[in-house]
Amino acid sequence: MTNCLFCKIIAGEIPTNKIYEDDKVFAFGDINPQAPVHILIIPKKHISSLDDVTAEDKDLLGYIQIVASKLAKEKNLTDGYRVVNNCGVDGGQTVAHIHYHLLGGRTFGWPPG
Ligand code: AMP
Ligand code: ZN
Repeated sequence: MTNCLFCKIIAGEIPTNKIYEDDKVFAFGDINPQAPVHILIIPKKHISSLDDVTAEDKDLLGYIQIVASKLAKEKNLTDGYRVVNNCGVDGGQTVAHIHYHLLGGRTFGWPPG
């Protein structure tokens, strides 16, 4: 995807605070953090949103949760954390490359606003 912000971050064309990378996923600090820990975890494969996943993405989507758990441990989020996917307009998605927010370091309310 040539015109995707997060694909450009993965390609190193836009500088970011990289936290983790392997052959399947990339994780970096959110530019506008909503909590003391706010990491975005994205697949290297361009998928526009959760609405666009298919059965062939099942291992990748599961793997992202494994990475979220690993990064939460590395950040010492021993009291818990939240993993969020915003999908589409009503979900509040602003970047059309599927991403999971890993939020921690404070207590979150429910329901979300
Ligand atoms: P969402 O609203 O769920 O689509 O989340 C998109 C997130 O990307 C927001 O929390 C933004 O703060 C974050 N964001 C946008 N541009 C950048 C960037 N260049 N580097 C890091 N995070 C970004
Ligand atoms: Zn992309």
